[in-house]
Amino acid sequence: MSITLQNITKSFDHFQAIKDISLTFKDGELTALLGPSGSGKTTLLRLVAGLELPDENPESRILFNDADVARKPASQRNVGFVFQHYALFRHMTVFENIAFGLRVMKRSQRPPKAEIRDRVNELLKLIQLGAMANRMPSQLSGGQRQRVALARALAIRPKVLLLDEPFGALDAKVRTELRRWLRELHDQLHITSIFVTHDQEEALEVADRIVVMNQGAIEQTGTPDEVFHHPASEFVLQFLGDVNVFHGRFNGSSSRFHRIDTDHPSRMLVRPHEIEVLLNPLGNPDAIPVQTHRVLTAGAVVKLEFIDSLHQSIQVHLSHADYTRTPVHPGMKVYLRPRSQYNPFVRSAANGYGH
Ligand code: ATP
Repeated sequence: MSITLQNITKSFDHFQAIKDISLTFKDGELTALLGPSGSGKTTLLRLVAGLELPDENPESRILFNDADVARKPASQRNVGFVFQHYALFRHMTVFENIAFGLRVMKRSQRPPKAEIRDRVNELLKLIQLGAMANRMPSQLSGGQRQRVALARALAIRPKVLLLDEPFGALDAKVRTELRRWLRELHDQLHITSIFVTHDQEEALEVADRIVVMNQGAIEQTGTPDEVFHHPASEFVLQFLGDVNVFHGRFNGSSSRFHRIDTDHPSRMLVRPHEIEVLLNPLGNPDAIPVQTHRVLTAGAVVKLEFIDSLHQSIQVHLSHADYTRTPVHPGMKVYLRPRSQYNPFVRSAANGYGH
């Protein structure tokens, strides 16, 4: 089922938490709502769920396929929920927790007992917790509990699955495992799903599409590749990973960045993995002289911190292979060459990014 929001605004007293948003979630896609704290992600999710109603406006619609549900309560929208702290019923087994949503259905809609049992067993298999059907929630790990919460949300066969920071309370390793698991699960089920996160890595890894939010509005919607490699604004660029900001001037004729040129004062934004480290500046007159401050070699990439003549800190990430070619150590003077000055995306930065 596709979900379309048209001209949706939500105010709390005089504060607009959502500012005239129009957006479509495509059928069967897993979309991440990504943004800093307070950007309106949860409010948008709650509007889709029916837990909040949008401000009155004749132009406003929330369409589930073609049906406008904007004024319908949550109970009539057939959505499944998973929250960060999803309170499973402590006095019920895993099996009973998953069956709960079916057992409380109106008699006319409730499946027969045998069907409920089969459905719960099927879900237990799906979340790979078949052996734990009779455990109580207190006997499960945090990750297992969230999987039960997801099974419970899926039991009613929702048309839409909404997840609000579902893995937020778990430690990093379990989080990474559950992300992959959620992605695989979604590939099997293809339920239109929306999940809220402020973790850019999580969004980039799991989602088909990312909606980047800022101050109640949408900065950009796109695939993970689009938002990462072609950010529509400086905000998106900065939010999706670390960025170094170089102050200098652009030479308009060559659109190359020179720190000392006379054209337009400007800024260049470069990600840490897009900078080359040179031991000498020969043949690279624009290379930036810096002092090595810190070297962290433990991890998938080597993380380096340099200080330039303006006392600005510059972060660089090198592969271990590249680091072997330029093995720097703290105190050493080297030169940096932003590779991406030839990258069209940074040229657009030169043309007035962030204006
Ligand atoms: P977080 O990542 O911290 O959960 P978020 O992006 O989900 O943030 P929301 O929870 O949607 O942000 O909140 C958006 C804004 O709306 C915030 O400034 C918040 O204080 C405000 N807000 C949310 N709910 C209410 C409410 N019930 N009453 C008043 N203000 C609210």
